[in-house]
Amino acid sequence: MRIARFTTGDDPRFALLEGEAGHEVLHVVRGDPLYAPLQPTGQQVPLADARLLAPVIPRSKIVGIGRNYADHARELGNELPAAPLMFLVPNTAVVGPGDPVVLPEGSTQVDYEGELAVVIGRVCKDVPRERASEVVFGYTCANDVTARDWQRGDGQWARAKGFDTSCPLGPVIVPDLDVADLALRTRLDGAVVQDGRTSDMVFDVPDLVSTVSRAFTLLPGDVILTGTPAGVGPLAAGQRVEVEIEGIGALSNPVVTR
Ligand code: MG
Repeated sequence: MRIARFTTGDDPRFALLEGEAGHEVLHVVRGDPLYAPLQPTGQQVPLADARLLAPVIPRSKIVGIGRNYADHARELGNELPAAPLMFLVPNTAVVGPGDPVVLPEGSTQVDYEGELAVVIGRVCKDVPRERASEVVFGYTCANDVTARDWQRGDGQWARAKGFDTSCPLGPVIVPDLDVADLALRTRLDGAVVQDGRTSDMVFDVPDLVSTVSRAFTLLPGDVILTGTPAGVGPLAAGQRVEVEIEGIGALSNPVVTR
């Protein structure tokens, strides 16, 4: 099942995305599936007539996880953290599929980071590892776009990872996906630049949900970014960056300057 958020020019609506590539149809559902049972209205919209939006706008927070793939920690000269390394990203950083990533003025190196994103479905706190799946609504692709020079210089990562347009999410949310070992690839203008597997995470998704929920009460629509595999590198205006995860789809965004 693929849950999409879309617009045809009016207010955003939610739908189940069905059909083969090139002939996909949005089956509109009532309300927001995070808060209401999935109930089709009977209305159908061809995907070609709609624009997909970020499938979720986090109500309270995005919790990012740093250095959760050993090869990536190594490529930037960092030690592996002994526990999940957390940072917060504001919801104003979120953009959707096809939306531009706007390179922030004053940064000299803005990197892509393809990641699996976990969308939380229930209010929860202190979730045991073995019950983590009960609080997960579904999964989507993310690009944890990072101003690397600001990350190094600021000490805090708020600006480096939280500037406007730094968190593309999408294209859809897939519930009930086994995310233990999925291929994750990032492409830059079509060339593969990151080629990882979620099985290479240092802390897996149940660990992350459990540990994050011990620090923060999680709310429906909160998002956890699970870290990026090796191969991060800079973006330039005019390029297109795409994060594809097996079983979810591809999140594609152009890169622009203001
Ligand atoms: Mg990251």
